[in-house]
Amino acid sequence: MPKTTPNKSDKTYKRVLLKISGESMMGDRESGISNDASLEVAKKIKAVKDMGIEVAVVIGGGNIFRGLSASKSGFDRATADYMGMLATVMNGLALQDALNKVGVDNRVQSALTMPDVAEPFIRNKAIRHLEKDRVVILTAGIGSPYVTTDTGATLRALELHCDVVIKATKVDGVYNKDPFKHSDAKRYRTITYQDAILMPEVQVMDTSGLSMAMENGMRILVLEMFKDDNLLQACRGEDVGTLVSSEVETQLAD
Ligand code: UDP
Repeated sequence: MPKTTPNKSDKTYKRVLLKISGESMMGDRESGISNDASLEVAKKIKAVKDMGIEVAVVIGGGNIFRGLSASKSGFDRATADYMGMLATVMNGLALQDALNKVGVDNRVQSALTMPDVAEPFIRNKAIRHLEKDRVVILTAGIGSPYVTTDTGATLRALELHCDVVIKATKVDGVYNKDPFKHSDAKRYRTITYQDAILMPEVQVMDTSGLSMAMENGMRILVLEMFKDDNLLQACRGEDVGTLVSSEVETQLAD
């Protein structure tokens, strides 16, 4: 596919919330953070910034620690979730380092206060950073256990008046069944919130994040960030990934 050059006049969105999973920071490692992968993520973010779009990032921590799976091995769930939140802060700092290297002005905020490494999450301050053309990296989710950073992404997108949550995953959208297990799995082009919540095989994000998006009309676009120019195409309003919204009908891609 030919490389597309970002162009400011092409943009569809003024402000986006980019949800980046911890796995995106892992590269080909089994776990942890890869410097190369962090740089690749930073370059993708820079390309969106170069279109003149304001970017808030909510970063996950699944490459390091996930509360729910740890609790299944015996950890107290809330404690494990706090550990997971700390993992997101590590990823946030790695992403900050990478954004600095590619010359993108940024700030890290954390929903758990740790002033030595990150600003506390203060909504108005985050908005000011965005207005000043800085990427805001939002870590520690919502600062409370029993949810994931997907809920954080929806909540922050609403609070910061973002136009859309772009959820970057390792698959190119939402499928009717797990594409890693079923070779006949089909991708949805569009899906309603209700179907996304009610269909057990369909994985968009955690139900709390999804229902918050439904109640408040926050669109969610699920796409594979590292595939071609997917992210830029999405920011130009082109048909990539899967759009979750109440303004669409559930429809499989061709
Ligand atoms: N987490 C939490 N509250 C939040 C956000 C995250 O308890 O508001 C914990 C939870 O244990 C989660 C972990 O942090 O599993 C890492 O985040 P997540 O699983 O969303 O990371 P991702 O899958 O996006 O890499």
